[in-house]
Amino acid sequence: MTASDSRNLHQQFVMPTYAPGITLVRGAGVSVWDDTGKEYLDFMAGIAVCNTGHCHPAVVAAVQHQAATLMHCSNLFHNPVQPRLAERLSRLTLGGKIFFCNSGAEANEALFKLARKWGSLDGRFEIITMKNSFHGRTLATMTATGQTKYQKGFEPLVPGFVHAEFNDLDSVRAAVTPATVAILCEAVQGEGGVVPADPAFIAGLRALCDEKKLLLLFDEVQCGIGRTGNWFGFQHYGVRPDGLSMAKALGGGFPIGAAAVSPELSNVFQPGNHASTFGGTPLASAAALAVLDTIEKEGLLDNAAKMGALFMDGLRDLARKHPCIQTVRGLGLMIGVVLSVPAKPVEARLRENGLLCIATGDHVLRFVPPLVVTPGHIRQALDILDRSLD
Ligand SMILES: *Cc1c(COP(=O)(O)O)cnc(C)c1O
Repeated sequence: MTASDSRNLHQQFVMPTYAPGITLVRGAGVSVWDDTGKEYLDFMAGIAVCNTGHCHPAVVAAVQHQAATLMHCSNLFHNPVQPRLAERLSRLTLGGKIFFCNSGAEANEALFKLARKWGSLDGRFEIITMKNSFHGRTLATMTATGQTKYQKGFEPLVPGFVHAEFNDLDSVRAAVTPATVAILCEAVQGEGGVVPADPAFIAGLRALCDEKKLLLLFDEVQCGIGRTGNWFGFQHYGVRPDGLSMAKALGGGFPIGAAAVSPELSNVFQPGNHASTFGGTPLASAAALAVLDTIEKEGLLDNAAKMGALFMDGLRDLARKHPCIQTVRGLGLMIGVVLSVPAKPVEARLRENGLLCIATGDHVLRFVPPLVVTPGHIRQALDILDRSLD
């Protein structure tokens, strides 16, 4: 089948929810190739998914081996891989139990249901989320998402969600009612333009939650799994949340999501309360275990912190030469470049010149490269940016 045949098929048979550009056919490490053989430096990593790089040999081997052993067995039976992953994730997060699912939205849904079940003991159900946040595209997560552009046309929204200003503790405090049960927040807003939370804001949220007996929940779907230089974004802030969601990079490209909670909340869900057919299959769990192993063995947390600092330094140097760069912000390898010009055309020009990134909002370029990037990749990316902004 030719490239244009494939595009025609897409146009005819795939719902037009996306507007794909190039066709990618292969990936290795920080590189991907399109159907004409052109190579790109991939600084978007499948939207913060391929943290161990494309087709990391350890992840590929784990998937191949498990696929040939037992791919799926339903959660009506034990499988020997899932609990090993649960133990790992528990130790990396809150020391409590894990619920497995397949996506970020589904992981957030699990947190919402868990918070509601917990709150149902005293009639509380409202969840406060932040403006400009992103939590997913299902009805509840789209309602939780604090951006009206994602909600338009899909009303009525799900009851029980309230939005407050990100990084504005007074605004959150004002949103608390007797029905409030939880606050959900990203440590670094991703889709909202790569905006890190202020330390005082997060500390204030924890104190507010303690005072009002609310659950503090973190959406770690984008900033988790090493992206920011720590395993999870919240770990930069010296607070302990009550629950968190993860997905994107957890399987290194294999779909898997999870919700992790504190020991106090570990038995809120009882048999029959929640489920997901594909949650934590042996195959998905094996992929995730290989990802966690690889991040540990290759020192990728440290690399993310170092390469993030190197890239941000280089971007700030570029800003002196190119006045269209207004601000450079981020944490580890989750980096936003705020432009004075629309970001979409710049994203397109970068792609033509062999660098993939994501335009976010109207004016922000988002860079979320694989955590395996080297100083050489960073230099290459800065060169392409320099040329493209001329
Ligand atoms: C991508 C994302 C989600 C949604 O994840 P899906 O796997 O697309 O459902 C939720 N929260 C954040 C912060 C995200 O970046």
